[in-house]
Amino acid sequence: MGRTSIDWCVERVGSSARLKAAFTSRYGGVSSSPYDSWNSAFHVGDNPSDVQANRNLLDVELGTSPAWMNQIHGSNVAWASPGQTFDDTDGLIIDLDRIGEDKAAACVMVADCIPLVLLSTDKPRAAVVHVGRAGFMLNIAAQAVAELDSELIAVVGPSICGSCYEVSEELRAQAAEIAEEAASVTSWGTPAIDIRAGLVRQLQDAGVEQIQRVDRCTYEDENYFSYRRACGQGDGRTGRFLGIALVERV
Ligand SMILES: [Zn+2]
Repeated sequence: MGRTSIDWCVERVGSSARLKAAFTSRYGGVSSSPYDSWNSAFHVGDNPSDVQANRNLLDVELGTSPAWMNQIHGSNVAWASPGQTFDDTDGLIIDLDRIGEDKAAACVMVADCIPLVLLSTDKPRAAVVHVGRAGFMLNIAAQAVAELDSELIAVVGPSICGSCYEVSEELRAQAAEIAEEAASVTSWGTPAIDIRAGLVRQLQDAGVEQIQRVDRCTYEDENYFSYRRACGQGDGRTGRFLGIALVERV
């Protein structure tokens, strides 16, 4: 078993709060293969008691119970309450002023889609957003940015890269209509989508100037769960890793 700890890749201390973004790897939890080992998703066929144990480990690491989403590849963005799970939601905003807490966190679960974390630089407010192909096509990022109504740092987490995300010619053309940067080619020469490049364009168009990218490809890097890789190796069963936003009073 690997270590259970969270590497906070971005931290910003504002006037009233410290805001942090992190992405977990697949290691550090208790789940067995093919969910080994820090799978946080109940919906993927893993033993529920293992998933709960993994979520309990996360609560200890965070010092709070985060808010969760039952994601549907849609564009609904909700204002989160700690410890609750939000159905039919692909973006969660936490705001300490609104919930009256000194600390709160929210998680997005992924295995190739982009975990996007948005940190406010002037309010005790942050968001996690699930940006897969559908989320990109629906521009859920712009919706989250608008709801946050704040100066932001965007942190674009590990996801399948534009050289690995093979799609049909038709889907590539649809993506290019949303943002031409998203049209790509796989390393083996077939049509692909670069969701990250498309998302960065959407964030820029939404007025976000500070954008950080974690350019790790989940399909290539076995430190992360990858649905595409799991499909290539078997029946697609695999876990989900996390993008996390944490906000605490200073
Ligand atoms: Zn790749």
